[in-house]
Amino acid sequence: MKLSATLPTARDKLLFTPGPLTTSLSVKQAMLHDAGSWHFEFNAKVKWVREKILEVAALSSDAGWEAILLQGSGTFGVEAVFATCVPPNGKVAVLANGAYGERMALMLQHLKIDHLVLRTPENTPNDPAALDRALAADTTITHVAIVHCETTTGLLNPIAEVGRVVKSHRRGYIVDAMSSFAAIPIDLAAAGIDYLISSANKCIEGVPGFSFVICRREALLACEGYARCLSLDLLDQLKGFDKNGQFRYTPPTHSLLAFEQAMKELEYEGGVAGRGARYRRNHETLVKGMKQLGFRPYLNPAVQSYIITSFSYPDSESFAFDAFYRRLSDRGFIIYPGKISRANTFRIGSIGRIFPSDIDALVSAIGRVLNEMGVKMV
Ligand SMILES: *Cc1c(COP(=O)(O)O)cnc(C)c1O
Repeated sequence: MKLSATLPTARDKLLFTPGPLTTSLSVKQAMLHDAGSWHFEFNAKVKWVREKILEVAALSSDAGWEAILLQGSGTFGVEAVFATCVPPNGKVAVLANGAYGERMALMLQHLKIDHLVLRTPENTPNDPAALDRALAADTTITHVAIVHCETTTGLLNPIAEVGRVVKSHRRGYIVDAMSSFAAIPIDLAAAGIDYLISSANKCIEGVPGFSFVICRREALLACEGYARCLSLDLLDQLKGFDKNGQFRYTPPTHSLLAFEQAMKELEYEGGVAGRGARYRRNHETLVKGMKQLGFRPYLNPAVQSYIITSFSYPDSESFAFDAFYRRLSDRGFIIYPGKISRANTFRIGSIGRIFPSDIDALVSAIGRVLNEMGVKMV
């Protein structure tokens, strides 16, 4: 019988994706337990995890901050903030330059919340001056929503600069930091962030199962009565934790056990600075290697994050993405298709439990696969 990746002796393929991502063996092993969702030992872990998330953000509950965990993927967390924190007659300005900004607009459409979308091209950061004009022109806008690292391309948006504009107009500020939190330092107070959303399976290197929202306790308490749905009611979720330390409704128990271990490993690596440094080395190794093969990154380096990198398809008749993807998968490497609407690209993530040596191995495999396919790079 052929040794296949489904046999327990084989190694998992490496994920060069933006989440779920490759996790450490110890994070996976942490899930080999059953935990009672109401049990005091599990509740103590929930409490510990919530405090640790604030620590990663250089905040604390003593200073009035909360980290609220919510079942579901990252999208659920973003939608929960809109559903809970925008008043009934509120209006949201969304800054969009990729799929995740567009998804925010879609959520607001579903929630029947008034909104406008300020778009820039997918290779261009959000425009603080355009936002400034929009906020001055429309005083009914109550909140501004932005994506920090637009995972569609890997572009980094200027959240601090935009935050200064938002605060000068005294509006609420919602930041999707899904793919940047814990790997790129974010000063919530300095950027004027009221709600920051991230999830278990991105740069903290846990497994999927929940998102979390960081906000000021008083601000969320002031949203009483706004919630448009029950399961995504973030304020009710906070009250549940207040009352008995529990999630309302069944928690992702195994995911939380994995996350607890992932948080310890983040600390061991040197926190946000240590993790960010490894991801940066991964990214630099990737770009250097890919350029040697003849690839061009899609973004200008000035706006490129070290989280995920988009590369344009080779300009060759012999190149077909599906075949390229399959051949890399056969060699144990999973890359990510492009999501950019106007350009033919694929993406390679630098995040997860991967190291520069893994990136080197990926780049060599890409070189061999292109040879096999008869793709000549120019
Ligand atoms: C991953 C991600 C999300 C959430 O996606 P889910 O599939 O719901 O986890 C949202 N925004 C950004 C920028 C992301 O990278």
